Amino acid sequence: MVQPAETPKAARSPAGDEDNLPQTAPEYADAPGYFDTGELIAVLTTQPLDRTLDYRAPEGGCHLGAFVEVPLGPRKVLGVVWGRGRGDFDLSKVRAVLRVLDVAPMRAEMQEFLTRAADYTLTPMPAMLRLAARAPGLSDPPSMRKVYRLGDATPDRMTDARTRVLEVLRDYGGLSFTLKELSDQAGVTSSVVKGLVKLGAVAEEDTPRDLPFPRLDPGLPAAQLTEDQARAAAHLAQGLRAGRYGTTLLRGVTGSGKTEVYLEAVAECLRQNRQALVLLPEIALTEEFLRRIGARFGAQPAEWHSGVTMTERRRIWKMVGQGGCQVVVGARSALFLPFRDLGLIVVDEEHDSSYKQEDGVLYNARDMAVLRASICDAQVVLASATPSLESWANAEAGKYARLDLTARFGPAVMPELRAIDMRAETLPSNRWISPSLQSAVLRRIEAGEQSLLFLNRRGYAPVTICRACGHQIACPDCDARMVEHRFLKRLMCHQCGETAPIPEACPSCEVEGKLAVVGPGVERLTEEAQALFPNARVATLSSDLFGSARALKEQIAAIGQGGADIVIGTQLVAKGHNFPNLTLVGVIDADLGLQGSDLRAAERTFQLMRQVAGRAGRAEKPGTALLQTFQPEHPVIRAILSGDEEGFWRAEAREREAAGVPPYGRMAGIVLSSPDPQEAFDAGLALARGDAPIRAIGAQVYGPAPAPIARVRGRHRVRLLVKAPKGAALQGAVARWVAQIRPGPNLRMSVDIDPQSFY
Ligand code: ADP
Ligand code: ZN
Repeated sequence: MVQPAETPKAARSPAGDEDNLPQTAPEYADAPGYFDTGELIAVLTTQPLDRTLDYRAPEGGCHLGAFVEVPLGPRKVLGVVWGRGRGDFDLSKVRAVLRVLDVAPMRAEMQEFLTRAADYTLTPMPAMLRLAARAPGLSDPPSMRKVYRLGDATPDRMTDARTRVLEVLRDYGGLSFTLKELSDQAGVTSSVVKGLVKLGAVAEEDTPRDLPFPRLDPGLPAAQLTEDQARAAAHLAQGLRAGRYGTTLLRGVTGSGKTEVYLEAVAECLRQNRQALVLLPEIALTEEFLRRIGARFGAQPAEWHSGVTMTERRRIWKMVGQGGCQVVVGARSALFLPFRDLGLIVVDEEHDSSYKQEDGVLYNARDMAVLRASICDAQVVLASATPSLESWANAEAGKYARLDLTARFGPAVMPELRAIDMRAETLPSNRWISPSLQSAVLRRIEAGEQSLLFLNRRGYAPVTICRACGHQIACPDCDARMVEHRFLKRLMCHQCGETAPIPEACPSCEVEGKLAVVGPGVERLTEEAQALFPNARVATLSSDLFGSARALKEQIAAIGQGGADIVIGTQLVAKGHNFPNLTLVGVIDADLGLQGSDLRAAERTFQLMRQVAGRAGRAEKPGTALLQTFQPEHPVIRAILSGDEEGFWRAEAREREAAGVPPYGRMAGIVLSSPDPQEAFDAGLALARGDAPIRAIGAQVYGPAPAPIARVRGRHRVRLLVKAPKGAALQGAVARWVAQIRPGPNLRMSVDIDPQSFY
């Protein structure tokens, strides 16, 4: 866990009208330092070097933190002025900075955040800088466009066309138009506008293409909060007014008004003239959320995720740095945006495993949010119906404040949860919907209500087997089976994404017509539901079934408006959608997540089942959740059913504490991979033998062993785990330890501090 210090901050000056800053502001008034022409400076570049490089400040000097272009060998590369030069290089050879980019310099707190995040995750600084400079065209000159507004002169000769243009400009007051907007609006050709410009009747001006975002107004009417909600909102507002760091775990069942509460925290943050960041896990699905923010504050916030256009990314990046953007709603990488004065970070659904970035820089956005906030004196809100055990334990230990919303808002009540004991149900082979679940669905169809059948498995069937020889079709490059996707008519590897046509004959024994599928995926379940309920409208929600996020959003909206009787879905549906007419949730295989050796298996199953169950009965109608299980007496299943969340966490905490695993111990995972299995294993053995730095902090090394998925994309994977006592200085020891291994052209090594998944 990141454990930031609490540092009070001096009163801050109101930021005023900063969104009106011209884009090409020559000075950033609060930039911390300045280097004169020719001074020796250290520049951190995005190139994979393990140190800063010395340069000379350019003609006219530059600010500390300035984004610059510097020569490196024959190339020009992007960098940031990191500090005073080291002077340990032949001074006569030090070259000058080529150009200072026209963007706000990196602030000292961002430098500190990147440095501490790098230390924490054992990531090289250039990789951290790449995260923080992730906007296209930063080095482009400021892009301008021409706009048109009413001029001073009156033309001697008027035509109908000219009159229409001037009327449009007068009608819209002081607004300016692009050439196309103006000529379209007036219904004239662009040459008419140009003619008026020559006469001085219309003024032509250059304005920056990257415009500030519309102001959000915290003064618009808010919801009338319930007593619980108001208390929570007041607590958060108090923290914001104090201008101090603090983290609050906001726990409440789905529908209890967590969003309503943290929107009031956003409002308070806006009143303080500071910026707010709301992180969401499933960013493709935020339409409803953006509308909600728009309704509360009168304008939409900036939206940052992989689906956003390059132009919009650049605009957000720049505006966030200049103060022309007050609220960003985004995916985890938004944490690295250059906020000018970040006062609040909300991590919604904080338990969600997608906050952990699993390739490239391995960081957990939830922990990094806490780190960043502690550096810039911001408040963090971790919101969840089913918090992670880490956050629960931090609240227990008093490091985080904890606020609970205990009731659902309005008439909605938590659904009734029951198990269906599959040992007592009779089911024909290749069928998964038990008679009990079937009749429950039927009752909902008759009542005109919706049911959700939940199965966390994409595709048609997880296994394709040859009945002649027993061969199972596997990915050629991975240690994984190929999954049939019947809608796409392909086999697909869920590890590497490789697809192949579904063969007629067994690839091993070449016998034809003997391939059979085993087990259900959502597509197969859809078939079963269609057969069982021929008159029902069945909709399937799975991330791979939609070509675009937009198509998925449309489908979700259609379902919300009653466009389906039965919804079949993967964990995609567990997250935040509001289907008011949904009153039954059937979990096809509640035992699925309990298998496997992952230390978070119980926690994840508990969270997922509670979340899915929470989809039922959001509006006036009470809901029911039925869990199909072969082990109704399993402690996790019992905890899910009883709804005794504190009891579950306490029991889970006891077990983890006894085993010395997170959050009561620390872990690091090392994966060595190579096309040559021997090379990967030898490197693992060398590490295991050289474990002195690990033993020195009282920690232990486990392995090397083949990773649970022993081959991905043709690379053999060997894993070592480090288990350390809670207070141990893990990162330093791991850094010293893995320095013994030199990754080469084939051998790769990845180091994961606080691993979340163990594949
Ligand atoms: P959560 O984020 O905990 O799932 P929401 O904030 O989305 O809960 O609230 C659930 C629903 O109840 C939403 O439609 C929300 O607008 C409504 N709601 C919650 N609290 C209030 C309130 N105090 N006044 C009016 N509507 C509310
Ligand atoms: Zn594969």
